[in-house]
Amino acid sequence: VRLGEFELIDQLLKPLAAGAAAALNLEDDAAVLACPPGQDIVIAKDAMVAGVHFLEADPAALVGGKLLRVNLSDLAAMGADPLGYLTMVAIPRDLDPAYLRSLIEGLAAVQKYYGLHLLGGDTVSTSGPLVLGLTILGTVPAGQAIRRRGARPGDQIMVSGTLGDAALGLRVLRGLATTEDEAMYLVDRYRIPRPRLALGRALRGLASAAIDISDGLLADLEHITGLSGVGAEVSVGKLPLSAAARAVPGASEAALSGGDDYELLFTVPPDYATEVRTIATALGLEVTTIGTIREAVGLAVLGEDGRAIATNAQGWRHF
Ligand SMILES: [Mg+2]
Repeated sequence: VRLGEFELIDQLLKPLAAGAAAALNLEDDAAVLACPPGQDIVIAKDAMVAGVHFLEADPAALVGGKLLRVNLSDLAAMGADPLGYLTMVAIPRDLDPAYLRSLIEGLAAVQKYYGLHLLGGDTVSTSGPLVLGLTILGTVPAGQAIRRRGARPGDQIMVSGTLGDAALGLRVLRGLATTEDEAMYLVDRYRIPRPRLALGRALRGLASAAIDISDGLLADLEHITGLSGVGAEVSVGKLPLSAAARAVPGASEAALSGGDDYELLFTVPPDYATEVRTIATALGLEVTTIGTIREAVGLAVLGEDGRAIATNAQGWRHF
């Protein structure tokens, strides 16, 4: 049974907008949002395509939740608080309506947890794969958004949580053999990113630069160093690895180059490092210093023995 667009809006989407005056109950052509005084509006968008950014076999509720989580992670990287979101869904004609319901239930659970609402959007049908787009709006005190371009020589390079789990989780889904406990932990990390919003907010005025890790640690660090006109030195031995990651082969490589971690990677002037650690502990989060920003451009990766690891043309030698 196909779900008509009006049924979809009435039954599934309107409940997501209930409670947000700006959404106008999804009755009008657009949402109307009062601009909070003294705040900048922060806007980001991420899209996910079935078979590319998520697996057809991934539970629909987790796919819907992930769509919102990855966008929230972009707000976290900017030090912003969530305000609301808009969706764009391109639905294959033969998609099971039950899949769509589950997907929206997943979205509903995550929006409730993070306290934001659907403000509007569009649904279309397609002959291609399911495409999910989400535009997120957030706020940050005027002028306080954390940028990528602020890292300075001597700043400590820090990350939240553990690295490489999501990439290893994807490998587990593709057949990497491991124990059930480790498999469940790693797959959960792949399917359920934790946007580090509280940490991002706390880093305003302390971090000199920040990004969320979606492409992989080194690729994302290069975004910071490139824009900041600096280089960096990172020690493989300092990368925070979960017990589950340590138990499978390729953990260090996954931590350096695997994507989808959605942890925060940020730089902190040495004078603020202790304060940042204290804040993270109060938030129940682990933050780890993995290296230092230096003046000389380029990334140096130091192996467990302290010696630089050779890199290839793409940037990184797989080891
Ligand atoms: Mg990002």
